[in-house]
Amino acid sequence: MSKKTKLKLTPEQHRERQRQRALEANQAKEMAHSDCEMELRVKGGNYGLYCQEHNKWITWLSPKELEKLSKAGIDL
Ligand SMILES: [Zn+2]
Repeated sequence: MSKKTKLKLTPEQHRERQRQRALEANQAKEMAHSDCEMELRVKGGNYGLYCQEHNKWITWLSPKELEKLSKAGIDL
Protein backbone atom coordinates (compact mmCIF):
# COMPACT_ATOMS: atom_id res chain seq x y z
CA MET A 1 0.00 0.00 0.00
CA SER A 2 1.33 3.42 -0.90
CA LYS A 3 -1.30 5.33 0.91
CA LYS A 4 0.28 7.94 3.09
CA THR A 5 -1.17 8.46 6.47
CA LYS A 6 -1.06 12.04 7.46
CA LEU A 7 -1.15 12.87 11.06
CA LYS A 8 -4.10 15.05 11.72
CA LEU A 9 -4.32 17.13 14.82
CA THR A 10 -7.39 18.57 16.38
CA PRO A 11 -7.20 22.32 17.03
CA GLU A 12 -6.68 21.54 20.72
CA GLN A 13 -3.80 19.18 19.99
CA HIS A 14 -2.32 21.73 17.65
CA ARG A 15 -2.46 24.46 20.26
CA GLU A 16 -1.02 22.14 22.87
CA ARG A 17 1.85 21.25 20.55
CA GLN A 18 2.65 24.89 19.86
CA ARG A 19 2.52 25.66 23.54
CA GLN A 20 4.91 22.78 24.23
CA ARG A 21 7.32 23.98 21.55
CA ALA A 22 7.32 27.52 22.87
CA LEU A 23 7.98 26.15 26.34
CA GLU A 24 10.90 24.03 25.14
CA ALA A 25 12.38 26.93 23.20
CA ASN A 26 12.16 29.07 26.29
CA GLN A 27 13.83 26.43 28.44
CA ALA A 28 16.63 25.97 25.92
CA LYS A 29 17.18 29.70 25.96
CA GLU A 30 17.44 29.78 29.72
CA MET A 31 19.68 26.70 29.80
CA ALA A 32 22.15 28.37 27.45
CA HIS A 33 22.66 31.03 30.09
CA SER A 34 22.46 28.83 33.17
CA ASP A 35 26.07 29.64 34.13
CA CYS A 36 25.86 33.30 33.29
CA GLU A 37 25.76 36.23 35.59
CA MET A 38 22.25 37.64 35.44
CA GLU A 39 21.15 41.11 36.18
CA LEU A 40 17.73 42.50 36.84
CA ARG A 41 17.23 45.44 34.53
CA VAL A 42 14.50 47.91 33.82
CA LYS A 43 13.57 49.02 30.35
CA GLY A 44 10.61 51.18 29.55
CA GLY A 45 9.07 50.37 32.91
CA ASN A 46 9.40 46.62 32.39
CA TYR A 47 11.66 44.40 34.43
CA GLY A 48 13.66 41.70 32.78
CA LEU A 49 16.57 39.35 33.29
CA TYR A 50 19.65 40.44 31.43
CA CYS A 51 22.70 38.28 30.74
CA GLN A 52 25.81 40.29 31.44
CA GLU A 53 28.12 37.83 29.70
CA HIS A 54 26.29 37.71 26.39
CA ASN A 55 24.72 41.16 26.64
CA LYS A 56 21.31 39.73 25.94
CA TRP A 57 17.87 40.02 27.40
CA ILE A 58 16.75 36.60 28.57
CA THR A 59 13.20 37.06 29.68
CA TRP A 60 10.73 39.65 30.85
CA LEU A 61 9.27 39.27 34.28
CA SER A 62 5.55 39.25 34.75
CA PRO A 63 4.01 41.25 37.62
CA LYS A 64 3.48 37.93 39.43
CA GLU A 65 7.12 37.00 39.14
CA LEU A 66 8.13 40.44 40.33
CA GLU A 67 5.90 40.02 43.33
CA LYS A 68 7.60 36.72 44.12
CA LEU A 69 11.02 38.36 43.93
CA SER A 70 10.09 41.22 46.19
CA LYS A 71 8.61 38.77 48.68
CA ALA A 72 11.88 36.86 48.55
CA GLY A 73 13.55 40.05 49.73
CA ILE A 74 15.05 41.15 46.45
CA ASP A 75 15.06 44.89 45.99
CA LEU A 76 13.49 46.07 42.76
ZN1 LIG B 1 24.56 34.28 28.81
